[in-house]
Amino acid sequence: MDCVFCKIAASEIPADILYQDEQVIAFRDINPQAPVHVLIIPRKHIPSVVELSEAESSLVENMVSIANQLAVKEGVSESGYRLVINCGEQGGQLVPHLHLHLLGGRQLAGELG
Ligand code: AMP
Ligand code: ZN
Repeated sequence: MDCVFCKIAASEIPADILYQDEQVIAFRDINPQAPVHVLIIPRKHIPSVVELSEAESSLVENMVSIANQLAVKEGVSESGYRLVINCGEQGGQLVPHLHLHLLGGRQLAGELG
């Protein structure tokens, strides 16, 4: 499958990986929108959050928990940060492999789109 995040998960293309386990990988966004911009993805190719089955809901819990741990490591836990999942075209999703954005290190805009 021609999916950039599957290729990162398979180590076929490089990424600045901050965390990985059997289920999840986290790496720095190639085009950061904030001083801290990390993507947390499942290894499994799930196209978007709308394709998540009920059985996989613990996956998102794990992704959020890992994002919280990375926020501590990246030093934004106290200053604050934002977790975002874009879904579909109007939601602004460009890469069709589920991912959670962790953004922090500057004052983020109050508007959500
Ligand atoms: P979204 O718009 O929610 O689909 O976000 C996709 C994100 O993936 C964007 O912030 C891109 O900068 C990021 N991205 C795309 N390709 C790569 C890559 N090879 N390595 C790291 N981040 C990437
Ligand atoms: Zn994929």
